[in-house]
Amino acid sequence: MTDLNNVKISGKAITPVLKGLSNENLARKILKEGVGTQEIDENKQYPAEKYVESLNIIEKKMGSLVLKKVGKFMMDSAKWPPNVNDLENALKSIDVAYKMNHTPNSSDKIGSYHFKKISDKEFEIHCDNPYPCGLDLGIVAGVAQKFNPKAYTRHKEGDCRAKGKKSCVYSIKLS
Ligand SMILES: [Zn+2]
Repeated sequence: MTDLNNVKISGKAITPVLKGLSNENLARKILKEGVGTQEIDENKQYPAEKYVESLNIIEKKMGSLVLKKVGKFMMDSAKWPPNVNDLENALKSIDVAYKMNHTPNSSDKIGSYHFKKISDKEFEIHCDNPYPCGLDLGIVAGVAQKFNPKAYTRHKEGDCRAKGKKSCVYSIKLS
């Protein structure tokens, strides 16, 4: 069971989310209720638990598709390290970036984006982190699209965090 109590998230990870929202003003208002400020400083850290609460409110008010779009935008605007230049490595690096942005960052506390290789043309990301499903679907689909325009991403049937389960599985297939 993940527990974000006392976990901090870097402001750097929050600003692209704000920029990706079509209604940035509403998002800022919601963020203020949760995190306590509208202006996010990239050099500061914020309470992750409150931030996730804000995202959940955004999802409720604006819909899951909005968060999916935000996730895609985040990945599209992300700076990738030079050694990450193919889809497989990019998918693996989601978890690395996630851990980099959170303190403390053990998987038992914040969960993860677990990469699984099914075949040369099929990968999976298992998410058991406390973030909303829609956002993660956008993140995974965004990475897949960026590194292979032919990649097709979908949420696998079965468990979903939006239905109160512990994890979601996203499948990425290459044609
Ligand atoms: Zn899900």
